[in-house]
Amino acid sequence: MTVHIHPSVDNGVKQGSGSFAGGTLVCKCASKPVKVGIKGDVAHNHACGCTKCWKPSGAIFSVVAVVPRENVTVLENGDKLKIVDAAAVIQRHACTGCGTHMYGRIENKGHPFYGLDFIHPELFQESGSAAPGFAAFVSSVIESGVKPADMAGIRSRLKELGLEPYDCLSPPLMDAIATHVAKSKAA
Ligand SMILES: [Zn+2]
Ligand SMILES: [Zn+2]
Repeated sequence: MTVHIHPSVDNGVKQGSGSFAGGTLVCKCASKPVKVGIKGDVAHNHACGCTKCWKPSGAIFSVVAVVPRENVTVLENGDKLKIVDAAAVIQRHACTGCGTHMYGRIENKGHPFYGLDFIHPELFQESGSAAPGFAAFVSSVIESGVKPADMAGIRSRLKELGLEPYDCLSPPLMDAIATHVAKSKAA
């Protein structure tokens, strides 16, 4: 049985150029697409199994990365953007035409990831951005309808692709969160 993770990795993870200078994210609308400019390369790119991230149809996982919020600029048709859930920690700015999430922003200054926006690198019209390096919230795909019995196959496919599966975030990101918490407690 073929396990489909996400169209951008199903044929193998394409490594980044290492010198990606940025590009333009474009939504799926045939006319008047929303365009968002990104300066520089992405970081912490990963497959994500949570139920909140936007995924293309048929994908079990999203592919999502972060960039500094000051590197994100809405270039065209920003009037089509609307926040999916204003109460969520990550406010996902989605196109009202096609549903694509263009960027997710954290407005809580106390959040460990404040200052970083979440974007989907597959929306770049340019190639070469940093490749996904792990898979997060893997067990959560069950919440989107994946059968628990399929999980072993999904985890082994992720490993085969070089995307180490974690049921939260990767250890470096979990450490970053815990460090932030420890520092705010000490303050
Ligand atoms: Zn759109
Ligand atoms: Zn997610």
